Amino acid sequence: MPCVDTRLLKLEQAFNPAPLIQVHDKLFSQHRIELWLKRDDLLHPVISGNKWRKLKYILNHALQSGCNELLSMGGAYSNHLHALAYAGYQLGLSTQAYIRGEEPQSHNATLNDLSQWGMQLHFISRSAYKNLRNYKNWQDLPGIQRHQYWIPEGGSTSLAMAGVAELAQELPADVHYLCVPCGTGITLAGIIKHIDNKANVIGFAACKNADTIISDLQTWLTPAHHYWHLNLDYHLGGFAKITPELIAFMQQIEQQTGIPLEPIYTGKMLYGIYDLVRRNYFPAGSKIVAIHTGGLQGNRGFQR
Ligand SMILES: *Cc1c(COP(=O)(O)O)cnc(C)c1O
Repeated sequence: MPCVDTRLLKLEQAFNPAPLIQVHDKLFSQHRIELWLKRDDLLHPVISGNKWRKLKYILNHALQSGCNELLSMGGAYSNHLHALAYAGYQLGLSTQAYIRGEEPQSHNATLNDLSQWGMQLHFISRSAYKNLRNYKNWQDLPGIQRHQYWIPEGGSTSLAMAGVAELAQELPADVHYLCVPCGTGITLAGIIKHIDNKANVIGFAACKNADTIISDLQTWLTPAHHYWHLNLDYHLGGFAKITPELIAFMQQIEQQTGIPLEPIYTGKMLYGIYDLVRRNYFPAGSKIVAIHTGGLQGNRGFQR
């Protein structure tokens, strides 16, 4: 593990341990299974969940490389940019972001937060945005200067895996199934790579056509990692597409458990888990741990 910069250690003092809590439901007792949630959404009041896990060692590398400006990309509701802008602000680093699509007439709550934390926003066309996805390493961005550090979409780099490893080490050993919501798949890959038990890891794809990330997963993993698969059945129409059933499901779970959810990642994963339980996918006696990856700030973009 790399040595951690003191500025980052200071920032980490504001973090809380992420508890593991059991979700009680008649459905689970009927099927004799247990569902537990790893509450990574409680890690920090602002930088919640997997975006911190992924950024930690990227930020460390930027600091140790002597960079004082961070550049990245994301959508107008991006959890990644939200975490990055706040972390940059706290660490005394400048931040800039390329945002997908035209500048909206009035900025949403996420964009307002980004500006408030000093992030410079550049709105770019969808095609220019897509082109930025070609730059995967920190010095790849054309025209990048020596004091600048490029972070690809979602903070999904190999350094991100080192932070996810810390999450993996916090998970209990006696688990049969580990469920992880999945965008780029880096969080899933990090979990698969770093858990030290033989749990089956199931990624729940948040996007349509997510089979393309299976080849990415294979480049990050080795054939020795074979206790995993990517479930493609619960994107509910595509990335950030919301159905009335999903909203009703989330409201019911939120009322029943008091745990806040968001509809893009953790909401869809739990919708999938409940459906799989009803279909007897998990054998009786199974202990399932699902990761609540956070991202609740994005809820401000949805009318419910
Ligand atoms: C970004 C994000 C994910 C997806 O993480 P990947 O590593 O890209 O698969 C999952 N949950 C939340 C809340 C996120 O913000």
